[in-house]
Amino acid sequence: MTLRTSVGIIGAGPAGVLLAHLLHRAGIESVVLENRSRDYVERRVRAGVLEPGSAQLLRDAGVGDRLDREGLEHGGIHLRFGGESHRIDFKELTGRGIFVYGQQEVVKDLVQARIDAGAPILFEAEAREIRGIDEQRPSILFSYQGHQEWLECDYVAACDGSHGIGRATMLARGAVMYERNYPHAWLGILAATPPAADELIYAYHERGFALHSMRSPTVSRLYLQVPSGETLEEWPVERIWSALRQRLNEPLLEEGEILDVGITAMTSLVIEPMQSGRLFLAGDSAHIVPPTGAKGMNLALADVAVLAAALTERIKGGRSETMSSYTVNCLQRVWRAEYFSNFMTQLLHREPLEDDFDNRLHLAQLRYLTSSSAASRSLAENYTGAATGTVALAKSGLDS
Ligand SMILES: Cc1cc2nc3c(=O)[nH]c(=O)nc-3n(C[C@H](O)[C@H](O)[C@H](O)COP(=O)(O)OP(=O)(O)OC[C@H]3O[C@@H](n4cnc5c(N)ncnc54)[C@H](O)[C@@H]3O)c2cc1C
Repeated sequence: MTLRTSVGIIGAGPAGVLLAHLLHRAGIESVVLENRSRDYVERRVRAGVLEPGSAQLLRDAGVGDRLDREGLEHGGIHLRFGGESHRIDFKELTGRGIFVYGQQEVVKDLVQARIDAGAPILFEAEAREIRGIDEQRPSILFSYQGHQEWLECDYVAACDGSHGIGRATMLARGAVMYERNYPHAWLGILAATPPAADELIYAYHERGFALHSMRSPTVSRLYLQVPSGETLEEWPVERIWSALRQRLNEPLLEEGEILDVGITAMTSLVIEPMQSGRLFLAGDSAHIVPPTGAKGMNLALADVAVLAAALTERIKGGRSETMSSYTVNCLQRVWRAEYFSNFMTQLLHREPLEDDFDNRLHLAQLRYLTSSSAASRSLAENYTGAATGTVALAKSGLDS
């Protein structure tokens, strides 16, 4: 069987479902192919910080009600190191706060909007090959319910994350991959325990980084730096809680049932260009950041705001300028976020061969960041997205 549509979208992560939604609002048909089940994508625990520009993008797209009801607005973060605790006041420094709202909740809202609109989204449909991207009608071969099918379209948006076929197709056409792997990973838990603080705590400790975050007044999201290649067997529950208490300097951190646990490798990666013929990459298929800067989901949402605007201008208005400058329009923001995420990672993590000298360098930089208003403002601008340009680009995606 061959299906036909205007934009074939691979992946129902934040990038894929937001793109489908923005196109639908612009009156453009698309089909979303997702290789996992609906239940799986709606429960997949990953990122949880939305820049104000991302939150506004979701509101403007009509999917911000639950975010406004259940999301937690934070005016700053705490930085802890060497027995000290300092608050970086984002609101005072930039006039903007951030929103804590789980990525799976963003996906849930957008999948529901898609289903309410009666628009096609196929779960457990695995894209296997993209063909004909230099031709008028490219197509995607996918397997669905035991059959091989074709989705014929005008444009292909590969929003299929780090292990999808979009990036591989782009690399086979000569795209360049810039990559850095870090010697550490994050062990993350979601736990049924009330947050120990009202805002995120980023902790630098000589035994390694830790992050205290939350998803609701009763559920916390906590992370520990572990060496890359570490397995969960090496981290029994007792060891996780004890390391969290020590590194976060929260001796009273309450234990709770662990609802989710996983170890995520840390990588920085950018594919250039993000477009070839009628194929576009968006989100993690095009770039990966280590999670320390909380940029992954925000970059994915901002990419598709730009892409939706470009496709709308082309399909509805017959103009292709924005479409052909998609890569250029995204890369400046992407590299700014890459820089900031790498900066935060190096600042807050211990490298395997670091000595006492390095430890004192980390502490000196952290003291500077928390005592200089210029340095604090720079961190606040980057963290909230004022410096990464997400807000302006997200807005341009909606204005078209
Ligand atoms: C394990 C993990 C943990 C993370 N934790 C954090 C965090 O704590 N903080 C943070 O800021 N960021 C985190 N991130 C980054 C953030 O979650 C991503 O940047 C974000 O998910 C990007 O969204 P996306 O839509 O581009 O890709 P994804 O969310 O990866 O979505 C891609 C979708 O494509 C589907 N897919 C893949 N291949 C195919 C195929 N062949 N056919 C059909 N569908 C396909 C996948 O199933 C998936 O649903 C994490 C990422 C990962 C992988």
